[in-house]
Parts: sequence; C-alpha cells; structure tokens
Amino acid sequence: MFFKKFWTRPLTKRTSVCYTGSVSLSAKLTNKKKGVDDVKPEIKSAADFLKKHGIDSFPIDLDKICQNEDIQIFAADLSALAEKDNTQVSGAIAISDEARVIYVNKEDVRVRQRFTVAHELGHYCLHNPDPELAMISLRFGRSPQETEANRFAAELLMPEEMLRNECKKTSLVFVPVIAKKFDVSREAMKIRLDYLGLEYIDI
Ligand SMILES: [Zn+2]
Repeated sequence: MFFKKFWTRPLTKRTSVCYTGSVSLSAKLTNKKKGVDDVKPEIKSAADFLKKHGIDSFPIDLDKICQNEDIQIFAADLSALAEKDNTQVSGAIAISDEARVIYVNKEDVRVRQRFTVAHELGHYCLHNPDPELAMISLRFGRSPQETEANRFAAELLMPEEMLRNECKKTSLVFVPVIAKKFDVSREAMKIRLDYLGLEYIDI
C-alpha cells in the first residue's frame, strides 16, 4: 500500500518541490492562507516527531507517521515539475484544505523514496507552509531550509541513539548491513556515520 498509489491530480498551489540537481528556481504561488496554522505541527526536531508518534525502534515506520498525521503518500511521475531536462524532481509536499500529500518520484528506488518522505516531513514540521513563502527547492541545494530538511530526514531515519547502540553491538560496522537495518541508502548511512564520528567499513 505504501508508495503504491499513483497520483493523477495536479499539485495544489501550496507546494514545495524538491529537486536533485543544481538548478535554482523560484515560484510564484498564490493560495488562501486558511488552514495554515491548523496543519503546522509544533515540532522542533526529528526526535520530537518520533516521540510524538511513539516510535522507538527501527526501521522508522514512515507509514505510521504519515497515517497519524493524515498525510497521504503518492509515488508519481514528477517529470512535469522539472524545469530543465537534466533536473530530476525527487519529491514534493502539498498541503491544501482538503488533503496533505507527499509525492515521491516513482522512478526512485525505495530507500531514496523513504529519504524523500522524511525530507518532506522536515519541511512539514519545520517550515511555514505559507503559500506566499512557498518555494521550489533543491533537495541537495544550499538553502537553509533544504539543509534543515535533509538534516531532519537523516535524524528521523537514523536517530543518533538508536544508531550508536546498534553500532556498539558489533566490532565492525558494515555499511550495507546497517543501512539495510535502517532501510536507508548506503550513501545516506555513510553520511550519517561520518557526521556522528562512527567508524565503518563500506564493502
Ligand atoms: Zn526540500
């Protein structure tokens, strides 16, 4: 069920689109503000969000979080959102009065889709979805909000305490093994292990 649906409706105007690539874009988005305050959770960190949803084990159950938050996940063809041919859209979040939806690129592998969902949840938790401030953003861009969303995603999918405890269980941390346990990509896991100063072997 998760990630299996396909989106056929146009994105609502209150949308933050996250790209891979290096194209800087801006969007003129207009929509009524009704409901903005209603949908913005008082969450300051990924740890808060996990606590709110009672999640204390991995792999992190994004399905449960999204169901609790009444957010639907759609795997969709997002190529129409790309402004340039070499820009790949990895995800988007759309908040309207009728629905809360996160879109992931249906061409992406599962672990990448999971990171995209976590990244969009970062925008959902941390950033004001006010349509007049809405943006088309770079997932790997340098804007503060993109950096924050990526950090939130890493902390959500690979919580520090859980990851440290798991690493302590073995004398050698093999990236493919631990990445699979947390259901993340090897690349994302390596970045996280580096950030936390944990040693590993990537073979
Ligand atoms: Zn983003």
